[in-house]
Amino acid sequence: MKKVIDAILFAAESHAGQFRKDGITPYINHPLEVMHLLIHTGEINDPEILIAAVLHDVVEDTNITIQEITDRFGEKVAKIVLELTDDKSLTKEERKMQQLISAIQLSESAKHIRISDKICNVYDILYAPPGDWGLERRKDYIVWANAVVGKIRGSNEKLEIRFDELIIEGNNF
Ligand code: ZN
Repeated sequence: MKKVIDAILFAAESHAGQFRKDGITPYINHPLEVMHLLIHTGEINDPEILIAAVLHDVVEDTNITIQEITDRFGEKVAKIVLELTDDKSLTKEERKMQQLISAIQLSESAKHIRISDKICNVYDILYAPPGDWGLERRKDYIVWANAVVGKIRGSNEKLEIRFDELIIEGNNF
């Protein structure tokens, strides 16, 4: 529990000054939402998975290194975070392709977080979309997210059901 709170504070400090794609929501809301979903919908209570969840975008989107995550939160957490960190030397399209290809190799812990991450992102694309994203771009994102989740089904049924509900809602747009 203490470590979970430490991780929340560390994530908040690391993402300070960053915003979600809508330009108004503080970035930290996103990892907190992912964590919230894991607990309330996915029924996950393993502290290491929750810590990795709140830190899942820290290495990708701030200057925190995976070594710092290892030193503060241990190797198991760092390994999960690393699995969920895109290679920023690749282009956006290459990263999307890479996520799709490597999804099947994710650990069970990383799969739970990946699905929760996609639920939060698809929700945002549907209900709080970036101002400059047209309908096509939003649809493309949802198709891709659905493909990624399709590769990792079978790890958390409740999260998958929630994801599928959103896809159905998206089809009505
Ligand atoms: Zn994320």
